[in-house]
Amino acid sequence: MDDRLPGDRASECRARMEPIAIAVRGAGEWVIVHRCTGCAELSSNRTAGDDNPLSLMRIATRPLAQPPFPLEHLTRL
Ligand SMILES: [Zn+2]
Repeated sequence: MDDRLPGDRASECRARMEPIAIAVRGAGEWVIVHRCTGCAELSSNRTAGDDNPLSLMRIATRPLAQPPFPLEHLTRL
């Protein structure tokens, strides 16, 4: 399965762009935020119809799957 995203393109410094987050723009339009692995420059691209939905969901849910605190803390709020 090819799970590359169309946003995976080289930036000006030609280092690999790594998708780091999904942002939502306007009324539910998904935007993929990429960070250059060389110079850390950020870029964002709208998702396209041929983006792999599983890859998009993986990026979007990554912070929830790896919370920086024990989930039990939520019950004490
Ligand atoms: Zn770069």
